[in-house]
Amino acid sequence: MYPAPFRYHRPGTLGSALKLLAELGEGARPLAGGQSLIPILKMRMDEPSDLVDIGRLAELMHIRQEKNRVCIGALATHARIAVSAIAGEIPIIRDCAGGIADPQVRALGTIGGSVSIADPSSDWPALLHTLEAEIVCQGPSSKRAIKINDFIKDSYTNSLADAELVTEIQIPMPPENSGGAYIGFKKAAPAYPAASAGVQLTLADGNLCRDIRLVLGAAGPVPVTSRQVEQQLIGQPLAEKNLSQAAEALVELSDPPSDSRGSSEFKRAMLRSLFMRAANRAMQRAGGEKITGSHDYV
Ligand SMILES: Cc1cc2nc3c(=O)[nH]c(=O)nc-3n(C[C@H](O)[C@H](O)[C@H](O)COP(=O)(O)OP(=O)(O)OC[C@H]3O[C@@H](n4cnc5c(N)ncnc54)[C@H](O)[C@@H]3O)c2cc1C
Repeated sequence: MYPAPFRYHRPGTLGSALKLLAELGEGARPLAGGQSLIPILKMRMDEPSDLVDIGRLAELMHIRQEKNRVCIGALATHARIAVSAIAGEIPIIRDCAGGIADPQVRALGTIGGSVSIADPSSDWPALLHTLEAEIVCQGPSSKRAIKINDFIKDSYTNSLADAELVTEIQIPMPPENSGGAYIGFKKAAPAYPAASAGVQLTLADGNLCRDIRLVLGAAGPVPVTSRQVEQQLIGQPLAEKNLSQAAEALVELSDPPSDSRGSSEFKRAMLRSLFMRAANRAMQRAGGEKITGSHDYV
């Protein structure tokens, strides 16, 4: 199917893109990598009057460390992030970026587009919870940073105001003795995960937990997180029993739909198992082991 007709614009700067979006009003959509928006247009699930192509704005392509935080421009592609120095330093970022879809999608799809579309199966919104990321949103005369959990409001629903763009993702650098892992389970590379789990933790002495963030992805309309479950682990040894209890509590909060990727029961079982594997890999990495690997395929 062909998309409904639309006008196409390609502003040369971020300022002119924001101004244009404000002038064009609610019928306009920003176009980044097009890996979600173009299929949506082709299926006529959306019929915007105007597309504002932001895909070549060099101002939004950076990936850099600034003092104690990592700043990733909204237009950084999954492929660039996967091979960046930052991904080398924070392995959970490489797990996520390198596991998304296939090389074609990774070459075009962007982190800003991924958080903006807020697809319940997208990897970045889940992953970014474990790193306590903030989403920088910019309008023609405003700029604000929103915590990822507040930014994703519901399935396919974000907190952007009219004419606002996601411009940057900010991630605090994890302290020493930290490690993380994110694992998705997929039927094939060019498919979204049926289930995913992420754990980012900081160890105190031995396997004592100083701090931890947990998430289940593709597990309901929004990523499943629980500060209460995280706090129950802090100060405790990260032993099998404690982690299984945390997995059980998180899965209890999940609501994965039965669909072509599997039944709800199957996905719950996968979420439990992926969580335990991510937690163990995170501990190994926090202990200094270099472990590669991200998503699993059937
Ligand atoms: C075959 C296939 C497999 C895929 N598999 C996976 C997968 O396994 N895991 C996964 O996470 N994703 C997957 N994706 C999605 C992919 O990661 C997309 O790149 C991503 O979801 C959207 O990024 P984009 O840059 O292409 O955004 P676009 O498609 O250009 O835009 C998506 C939406 O966000 C809006 N938007 C884009 N950028 C901004 C911005 N900076 N500010 C505000 N709004 C913005 C657009 O208006 C649109 O509504 C897959 C896609 C395909 C086609």
